Amino acid sequence: MVSIDALYARTRRAPNGCRVWLGGRTADGYGHVRTGPSSWDYVHRLVWAARRGPIPAGKIIDHRCRNRACCELRHIRLVTYSENNLAGWITKRAQRLASSSGVGTTSSGTVRPAPPAGRSLQAPTPGPRLEEEAVR
Ligand SMILES: [Zn+2]
Repeated sequence: MVSIDALYARTRRAPNGCRVWLGGRTADGYGHVRTGPSSWDYVHRLVWAARRGPIPAGKIIDHRCRNRACCELRHIRLVTYSENNLAGWITKRAQRLASSSGVGTTSSGTVRPAPPAGRSLQAPTPGPRLEEEAVR
């Protein structure tokens, strides 16, 4: 079991309050850490489990701040798969509207983490659009 202190030692506080994971990440941007000889887990899930208890079956951890590398307890919440898909779809749509209009910021009130100097926090590349297709 990875201790919460050991996890927090590998994070950095962003101006918007995000606790940004500085270690390894998955291809889609989630903080990822080795938990055993051949086991890995998501950092935000470990933080949740350590502070709030086991994650029930059928529930997942959603980033309210939409920053997948964030593991700040106040920024994550327990949701169902469908709730998370909806939140992700709304964020993607807002980002698409913002980029297509040439404006760099969103007007939808979405919390967007500020990229730190020297290291981009942007999602590496847009993944497959499976989530979005599932909502329709
Ligand atoms: Zn955050």
